[in-house]
Amino acid sequence: MVGRKDDDYMDADSDSGASFVIDDDDPDYEKGRSKGSTAKSKKIKRKDKGKGKAKEQPYAWEASYTRSWDAVQEDETGSLQHAVEDLMAQGRRRRLLAPTTAIRRTIIRHLVLLLDLSESMMDRDMRPTRFDLMLEYAREFISEWFDQNPLGQIGVVGMRGGIAERLGEMAERDVSGNPQDVLKCLERRTSLEPSGEPSLQNAIDMAKATMAHLPTHSSREILIIYGSLTTVDPGNIHDTLDACIKDKVRVSVVALAAEMKICREFCEKTGGTFGVVLNEGHFKDLLFELIPPPAQRGAGKGSGSSAADLMMMGFPTRLPDSSPKALCVCHSILKSEGFLCPRCFAKLCDVPTDCDICGLMIVSSPHLARSYHHLFPVKAYVSIMELSTEEQSTASKTCHACSTPLKLQSVPGATLAAGLSPLDRYRCPECHNDFCAECDLFVHEVVHVCPGCG
Ligand SMILES: [Zn+2]
Ligand SMILES: [Zn+2]
Ligand SMILES: [Zn+2]
Ligand SMILES: [Zn+2]
Repeated sequence: MVGRKDDDYMDADSDSGASFVIDDDDPDYEKGRSKGSTAKSKKIKRKDKGKGKAKEQPYAWEASYTRSWDAVQEDETGSLQHAVEDLMAQGRRRRLLAPTTAIRRTIIRHLVLLLDLSESMMDRDMRPTRFDLMLEYAREFISEWFDQNPLGQIGVVGMRGGIAERLGEMAERDVSGNPQDVLKCLERRTSLEPSGEPSLQNAIDMAKATMAHLPTHSSREILIIYGSLTTVDPGNIHDTLDACIKDKVRVSVVALAAEMKICREFCEKTGGTFGVVLNEGHFKDLLFELIPPPAQRGAGKGSGSSAADLMMMGFPTRLPDSSPKALCVCHSILKSEGFLCPRCFAKLCDVPTDCDICGLMIVSSPHLARSYHHLFPVKAYVSIMELSTEEQSTASKTCHACSTPLKLQSVPGATLAAGLSPLDRYRCPECHNDFCAECDLFVHEVVHVCPGCG
């Protein structure tokens, strides 16, 4: 299409009889002429020069860019089904291969999510826009985060117009342990419309202030989704960085555009992670990598940190729906259902929370139990590459969990990526039962208990 247009243009030019400038020394010009054009104006020559360059000498970043569709191999029948399944299985397996040794982790987490709501979020380099994609993933992230960290609390802060603003109606409580409350802040898209410039310093200061009162046993984390390449700050942002290090606030950044030095510095100095998004899928991966609780920093180092701190927790009494109405201490709403603080008998709406009256941490026992699996993860199952002849007679023919028939022999000629079993058979190192790939995933991501070990 472009070439066609040029030819038209050249013809028109030569007809007009304009004066031509010929520069025979220029090799690019030769190319232009060899293409069969008769026109010789300088204007055209310059145009050709650009075009020739783009064809033969790609930019450095173009050369190193591997296209995802080049890596996909068709199988003998020319179908992509197999390749796609492989890629999916590989992705699932990668997440499972996280270290399974016992690490001291913070299970009482406090996270403030900083969302970039500046104009740069309207960029369409991610579909439909960065902004819409961010909202979608943020919602998924929050649901998953609460699922894995039932004792955690999240606050959401937006950055736009050079200031930081708390989102949603959590005015009197900056962070909430209720997923519905947090998701509500991201519900009304119109109220989040991006505008102006973001301010990293304002937002981090606000997030830090939100978590300033927290006791030492809970984590203080900030997760920034940043699409802009600039920040408008009222003061020196390095002072904020120093304050974050002092207060042990962990800052992680997921950048949508490119790396900014100050962002990386924040992550490196506070022990967080930094990542630049490559595509939509990678964006989600980067976010979801931040869901498991972080290993506790400084464990083993120093004198005070290696000893475990005991902390006081209260298990509340749940009030039946038929109980007389009373005001809750958190919202001052007259209602009958709720929970009673075991120490001061104040009435609370939701658990987990900190009692507003006596400050006791209130949790329900299922919440506590659900946080437990992070401390004792199920060991990764070993993928079985092949079964010896005697094993073939003794090995179970079905998955131990779902009774799906398992293969005893691999299909000859089938090539599989590293880490995947050609038999689709994964064995628990503890109880030596075999599981299918689906159950392997389900056990490690949802159940967190091996059905064979009990
Ligand atoms: Zn309340
Ligand atoms: Zn209380
Ligand atoms: Zn199964
Ligand atoms: Zn087992």
